[in-house]
Amino acid sequence: MKLGPHLYRIGNDIVAAYLVVADDGVTVVDAGLPGHWKDLVDELTSLGLSPADVKGVVLTHGDADHIGFAERLRRDHGVPVFVHAADAERARTGAKPKVAAGPMRLVPTLGFFAYALRKRAVPTTYVSEVVEVHDGEVLDLPGAPVVIGLPGHSPGSIAVHVPSADAVFVGDALTTRHVLTGREGLQPAPFTDDPAAALASLDRLAGVQASWVLPGHGAPWRGSPADVAAAVRAGAA
Ligand SMILES: [Zn+2]
Repeated sequence: MKLGPHLYRIGNDIVAAYLVVADDGVTVVDAGLPGHWKDLVDELTSLGLSPADVKGVVLTHGDADHIGFAERLRRDHGVPVFVHAADAERARTGAKPKVAAGPMRLVPTLGFFAYALRKRAVPTTYVSEVVEVHDGEVLDLPGAPVVIGLPGHSPGSIAVHVPSADAVFVGDALTTRHVLTGREGLQPAPFTDDPAAALASLDRLAGVQASWVLPGHGAPWRGSPADVAAAVRAGAA
């Protein structure tokens, strides 16, 4: 799905990943679930491109529903996979603390897990080699993505700002559709390691110039990143 001249989304409001398409190739932000491989190839094909045009995958964090086809791109196409150093172990092995899921409703929860199974979420294919990134880094990839540390959902959660795509990708630092309740609108994401830290980190988006705030789960949100922190706090259940 096209969001802008250089910006595409694959997946849906349950699980999404994004493509930044520039003259020098494609940067993929998050890798959804393994079954999104077909969606990736279909989107690239529709643009006259192929996996060989992908120069890098930037993971907003290391959770299983964001690393889906990353290892396949790395192993079969030599594409480097970037993740914050504090989430590198999570992306390589799945190591993470157990956290309470919080509120859930049956139908949206089943919908999330059914979709995950359909997209072959089990077993998880971890990323055997990653390139570690840090807060403030500008990556040498199409769109020159800027790393903004947003610890909370996980220690290595980041936002990825791509000025040429007019977008900031926020992973699960927030959501616009709670996968377990189905409630829509800006709000904190479930399965968050440290909810208070996650909310505090959102203040770091205040200075970001972009028209799109793009979460890993939920509809793309159009508006100023400066307004996000207050809106998510107001949307907390
Ligand atoms: Zn997620």
